[in-house]
Amino acid sequence: MSDERAERIAEFVAPLRVEPGSKVRLGRDFDPRYRAGMKKREGKELLRIGVSLLAEYQQRLAAQDTYGVLLCLQALDAGGKDGTIRHVMSGVNPQGVRVSSFKVPSAEELDHDYLWRYALRLPSRGEIAIFNRSHYEEVLVVRVHPENLVRQKLPDDSRGPGIWERRYREINRWEHYLTDNGFKVVKIFLNLSKEEQRTRFLRRIDRPDKNWKFSAADVRERGHWDEYQHAFSEMLSATSTKWAPWYVVPADRKWFGRISAAAILAHTLMEIDPQYPDVGKAARKDLLDTKRDLEREAPAGAPADPYTDRHPPAGKKRG
Ligand code: ATP
Ligand code: MG
Repeated sequence: MSDERAERIAEFVAPLRVEPGSKVRLGRDFDPRYRAGMKKREGKELLRIGVSLLAEYQQRLAAQDTYGVLLCLQALDAGGKDGTIRHVMSGVNPQGVRVSSFKVPSAEELDHDYLWRYALRLPSRGEIAIFNRSHYEEVLVVRVHPENLVRQKLPDDSRGPGIWERRYREINRWEHYLTDNGFKVVKIFLNLSKEEQRTRFLRRIDRPDKNWKFSAADVRERGHWDEYQHAFSEMLSATSTKWAPWYVVPADRKWFGRISAAAILAHTLMEIDPQYPDVGKAARKDLLDTKRDLEREAPAGAPADPYTDRHPPAGKKRG
């Protein structure tokens, strides 16, 4: 594993991370057009590195079967969640990844505590789970539209003032619990500017092949822009923790957002640094005995071990 690649990725993601305990004001602290002085062409090169690292580390994660990863994606409408997931997924084995999208909760979901439906979709060991929207909707859309809270049928004394601070605390503890048990949580907010959202909405209207992506409800939500900015800022301040950090990803340039997300996931996996399991001496000896048996089965004229024949150990020339 080249440390140089790992270092480049670590350096790249550091400025996107929300320092735990810091007080975030989105408009002031994070520029949706930031691109780390990078050109699109250089970005593509970094994306290639990120994607190859992802593939490599995911394989180890699955083989080790000890840790799992939960990637939460939040954004305003047209923020680019779908495209980001597509790009991140291009680097991983689909067998080891599960994507869950969270919409308006169903009657059954509302009949449970608010974290219930998210808990059902957590990754298992060796797996990466991507949440397309996540438990953070519970302090975002539910906060901006309090009628959602009414639908949650909470007892009176757990709905009063201080509910958002309480939810932040509960979410932090839940994520801490998951981390303690081998599940690493990482959170990405795709930070879109109001003007870029307007442009993307118009594009969805102007292009017939994009019409299906447009919904009048999205424009209604846009009317609550400032309330959402406030809810996001409070959420980022309260729930970026050492164990489960938030990354604010500039999303006005789609290519930069995608690279950033792939890099953040790769970085998270590198921090876990999963290892292929060592089978142990006895099992290794059994393997070598089996190897000799298989070699003895070689047909006349065939190499005893076609694999080593094609992939000679470093330093040895093919005979
Ligand atoms: P896209 O529009 O790209 O297909 P999306 O994630 O916006 O994806 P939609 O079906 O358009 O999917 O919207 C889902 C809606 O569900 C959003 O408006 C979101 O705010 C809402 N939602 C998600 N979780 C909750 C929740 N816990 N309570 C209330 N509303 C929620
Ligand atoms: Mg939508």
